[in-house]
Amino acid sequence: MVDYIIVGFGLAGLSFAEQLENNSNSYIVIEDNSQKSSRVAGGLCNPVILKRFTAAWNASDQLKTAVTFYKNIEDKLGESFVVDLPIFRRFNSIEEQNTWFEACDKPVLAEFLSSELVKNENSSLDVPYYYGQVHKTRRIDIKKMLSIYVDYLKEGKRYIEESFEYDRLTIKEDSVEYKGVKAKNIIFCEGFGVKKNPFFNYLPLVGNKGEYLIIKSTELQLKEAVKSSIFIIPLGENLYKVGATYNNQDKSSDTTRVAKEELQEKLAKFLKADYKIVDQVAGIRPTVKDRRPLIGTHPEQEKIHILNGFGSRGIMIGPSVAKMLYDYIEKGIDMDPEIDIKRFDGLR
Ligand SMILES: Cc1cc2nc3c(=O)[nH]c(=O)nc-3n(C[C@H](O)[C@H](O)[C@H](O)COP(=O)(O)OP(=O)(O)OC[C@H]3O[C@@H](n4cnc5c(N)ncnc54)[C@H](O)[C@@H]3O)c2cc1C
Repeated sequence: MVDYIIVGFGLAGLSFAEQLENNSNSYIVIEDNSQKSSRVAGGLCNPVILKRFTAAWNASDQLKTAVTFYKNIEDKLGESFVVDLPIFRRFNSIEEQNTWFEACDKPVLAEFLSSELVKNENSSLDVPYYYGQVHKTRRIDIKKMLSIYVDYLKEGKRYIEESFEYDRLTIKEDSVEYKGVKAKNIIFCEGFGVKKNPFFNYLPLVGNKGEYLIIKSTELQLKEAVKSSIFIIPLGENLYKVGATYNNQDKSSDTTRVAKEELQEKLAKFLKADYKIVDQVAGIRPTVKDRRPLIGTHPEQEKIHILNGFGSRGIMIGPSVAKMLYDYIEKGIDMDPEIDIKRFDGLR
């Protein structure tokens, strides 16, 4: 008997596992590597929506929780995967620069947006105006973090590498049972994979495919993440992530030539240095129609829960909402109706 079965080990599964670790609950994880969102993500922990210069949902609180959360995992696993990484927004016009200044005066953004513009000093980039700098941003090497966490789970014999078979789940009054493992609760954290889940596939998870190119350029020598129509994110050793694309039609995790060409075209508008493409990656962001996470308990099965719908901001959202779900299940603390799946009961 364990306290929890977690199905899926991306950012959602990891965020819930950490709640269980911190509260000394027992659990096992089942993961089949069918979805890639967390493992291909840019890894930016960024409180600002840089298209419109607005704060992300609950940005200030979520950022504080997230930074402490990832640093605690670093301490526990004895590895580092959190780096401070300034983000520079490249302006396309004087009007955009002026809009930035207006945004700097808004109370929710004042702590994040610098009102001192930054001049481009890098001759490999075409920057006709100034940069605006976002404070308090970081990059989390999610792929590394998940891989080290999986090793840690394997050591404790808590990791099963297989596809969860939904029809093998037996539901009892006070527990569930899956292939001989009895658990008090089961949490589904499958990202876009939830589409195959008969308990929760009524939820309006849309899914938005994103692709990145990984490029190598010795000439570029960029230390900050630069955001123009796309991001260039430094990874170290002259490697950079370039992207991402947004596509809500194609729901496969395969890389495409169309995305490669789109990214190269956008890059050509502001990168003047030579580069070589060394890789291309793709994943489906678990986006939701109303842009809020999907958290809660199945309307009829009180031992079956979901943690999903992190959209394009899983790094910041995950740690806070995983705690809300844990507190709801274990302590009966009411959940924010904005994120509770109850808001979609009418769709069943
Ligand atoms: C290109 C791209 C760039 C992004 N950049 C950023 C960024 O810079 N910052 C940010 O905060 N967010 C970013 N995101 C969004 C972020 O990646 C997501 O919000 C987050 O990863 C979602 O995590 P998840 O655990 O819900 O889903 P996933 O990462 O998809 O994890 C779900 C897991 O469940 C497993 N699974 C599914 N079905 C089953 C099954 N039946 N049995 C067993 N296992 C199963 C899958 O294999 C997968 O590992 C980006 C996403 C993409 C695609």
